[in-house]
Amino acid sequence: MLTGIVTDEQLIKLYTTPGYLVAVDYPKKEVTLHTVDCMLADPISSVGVKPSKARENKTGEFWFSESRDEANSKAEEIAKNKGYTYTICPICNR
Ligand SMILES: [Zn+2]
Repeated sequence: MLTGIVTDEQLIKLYTTPGYLVAVDYPKKEVTLHTVDCMLADPISSVGVKPSKARENKTGEFWFSESRDEANSKAEEIAKNKGYTYTICPICNR
């Protein structure tokens, strides 16, 4: 099941749940697929995504799914609808 992630806390709680994060960056026009344990998907990391801030500033959106296929489909759909670039994160790709 796809879950919309709107706060950092929500994502932090999912850290130990095997699954995938779709990160949409509006300013960069990019959709990226991560595993939730990727450092770039970790709000605590300085390089990680920040869902709370992105929502506040309307600069992005985030989706979680335990299914890679489902996360991938959502990422492709958003990329297609918005005309964004879709990339699978090279750090956590597996
Ligand atoms: Zn990643």
